[in-house]
Amino acid sequence: MLLDLLLPNRCLHCNRIIPAAMPVCEACEAQIHYTHWNFDGKNPLAQKCRMLFPTEKAFALMHFGKEGLSRELIHSLKYRQREILGKMLAERVAERIVFDDDKPQLIASVPLHPKKLRQRGYNQLHLFADALSEKWKIPHDKNLLKRNIHKKSQATSKFDERFKTQNLFSLTKTIENQHIMVVDDVFTTGNTMASIAWEFLKSEGNRVSVLVMAMD
Ligand SMILES: [Zn+2]
Repeated sequence: MLLDLLLPNRCLHCNRIIPAAMPVCEACEAQIHYTHWNFDGKNPLAQKCRMLFPTEKAFALMHFGKEGLSRELIHSLKYRQREILGKMLAERVAERIVFDDDKPQLIASVPLHPKKLRQRGYNQLHLFADALSEKWKIPHDKNLLKRNIHKKSQATSKFDERFKTQNLFSLTKTIENQHIMVVDDVFTTGNTMASIAWEFLKSEGNRVSVLVMAMD
């Protein structure tokens, strides 16, 4: 294609020219440290989550190593090549996850901080979650979760500090009797995931599963 000649697509990692539909070349993709886990309640992410909240199932596509390619990919998702990259990561997830009878009924993506959303103009998780939603026929509600804004002056004691971290998000509508899959890019301390999970778990009959691009 003419466009390919004018603006050749390059591998995000090694800069080699590759077909326009791919974010990284085959050699670089082979270096990605995929987890090869199942979407279940036994893998290391599920175990970590369960220390923080009752967890149904969990899955991380990649390990988030310091020197690994996953860090570079997730960073690129925020700043460049986001469309093909978001779709590629969703494809890799969809290839690996096999649902049993207990398939999640709703996908909720972690909202960006409003300041970041204003700067960047979009949430890098949306493309990824939308692609999965389409493949799996599970609705993705982008506006279900809202990040609560806390003014610094609100925290006057240790207790308030702690309360703040537990009250990071709220739900924009009531969700009951649903199996929700919460989607985020990187799982580190689990603080974000736990505060979201507990918002859902306040209501009757809800269960929470977790899907992240990478686990630290
Ligand atoms: Zn490459």
